[in-house]
Amino acid sequence: MKDLLLNIEKNSRPLEPDSAERDRIRKKIINYSEQFLDNIDHLPAYVMSEDKGKGISESPIREEPDSIDEIIALIHKNIDTPGLNPASGGHLGYIPGGGIYSASLGDYVADITNRYAGVFFAGPGAVRMENMLISWMAEMVGYPQGFAGNLTSGGSVANLIAIVAARDAFDIKGCDVDKAVIYATDHSHHCIDKAIRISGLKEAVRRNIPMDESFRMNEEMLESQIISDIKAGLKPFLIIASAGTTDVGAIDPLKEIGIIADKFNLWYHIDGAYGAFFALTEEGKQKLQGMELSDSIVMDPHKGLFLPYGSGAVIIKEKHKLYNSQYYVANYMQDAQKEPEELSPAELSPELTKHFRGLRLWLPLKLHGVKPFRACLEEKLLLSKYFYSEVQKLGFEVGPEPELSVVTFRYVPEKGDADKFNEMLVNEIHKDGRVFITSSKLNGKFILHLDVLSFRTHLSTIDLALEILKQLTEKIKSQNSTSK
Ligand SMILES: *Cc1c(COP(=O)(O)O)cnc(C)c1O
Repeated sequence: MKDLLLNIEKNSRPLEPDSAERDRIRKKIINYSEQFLDNIDHLPAYVMSEDKGKGISESPIREEPDSIDEIIALIHKNIDTPGLNPASGGHLGYIPGGGIYSASLGDYVADITNRYAGVFFAGPGAVRMENMLISWMAEMVGYPQGFAGNLTSGGSVANLIAIVAARDAFDIKGCDVDKAVIYATDHSHHCIDKAIRISGLKEAVRRNIPMDESFRMNEEMLESQIISDIKAGLKPFLIIASAGTTDVGAIDPLKEIGIIADKFNLWYHIDGAYGAFFALTEEGKQKLQGMELSDSIVMDPHKGLFLPYGSGAVIIKEKHKLYNSQYYVANYMQDAQKEPEELSPAELSPELTKHFRGLRLWLPLKLHGVKPFRACLEEKLLLSKYFYSEVQKLGFEVGPEPELSVVTFRYVPEKGDADKFNEMLVNEIHKDGRVFITSSKLNGKFILHLDVLSFRTHLSTIDLALEILKQLTEKIKSQNSTSK
């Protein structure tokens, strides 16, 4: 038996590389990531490719190891080349994410020490760190003591947790669902609809409140809709406002909605996945006034704090409402639940064992201080205003003035179909690849979207985007005139 064990042990030992072996593979990985970063200003923001990373699926997982060089080559060719390059400052589409370097070092330490951040008993320091980060955000929002929250994998799960907490706080049972009413707008993020469905509220009445000309929820229509729903015997319970829509970056009238929610005793949720961290800037703070009136809020560090993907957050103003919706009971957890000096993520989210997400956020904040994050957000606000005014000089039509860092615009040619023209333009931009912007529909029109939120986007990037827009509109115009 002992001999057998020692023999098997030998075979499992590669999972514990010694320091020389660690050094060998780490150097290769560091070398690869350093090359990527040294080159980042020259890498395209988007690469159209034929095989779309197919090599990965064609390289099987085998009994025997591959070499680190082969592995890195696979990553380079199939993962880090085709498609969108979110690490590029030229990523100006959708809502860009981040990927600051210091966060990767937080993940590195968290992965190596593998502290258990789900339960206070097991990882008291790790849980304190995550709770302390939630407190830092809650203070930014303006919540008084008594809140609780969770660092999630992203905004979608964060919104789901908030909607489930609202459902449970109103004790909405299956038989009540078709009378329950949820208020939002047509520009609420699609993950809200998904969360409503997943939380069993699909049959609830959903009211999309009309928006004003800047695509903000019209609060008077909200109030009159609530009144008529109550008269009709329905049970309004939840208002979902956006603090920065994905469509145009609009902020709903947060204060006015808060007053209405209070008047009718409804749960007030704010989806600030994109916009809430702008509260770090003076301008953002003014624009986000009223956030503190909400019962729950979502904010995405992988957007507004430039973290790598996999970082969202949800905060619920009254801690017991989150706890009541997520607590657990299990015999085998009895040691863990003895002295709850701090609430644990496992009691505040659907997860038990989870990635120690706190460290990738805490380390950058400690290492750099808040100042550069604030400056970076201010820069994004200003760059969007700059683009908004410069793109008009190139003859583009624009949507509403950017409230945060989303600009919508389109080219209207003298002759021919404008929708087709802009569709051709976005295709040309993708083919070019130096910057990445996206298209969308607004009021039925085909429009282009420029979203400034990558920490690597600076003045030179925006000037490049303008130059590319100029070149490619000229190109399409001349093609159109010769083809006639
Ligand atoms: C990005 C975003 C979401 C979804 O968040 P994920 O982190 O992508 O899951 C939700 N709402 C808004 C307003 C967003 O911008």
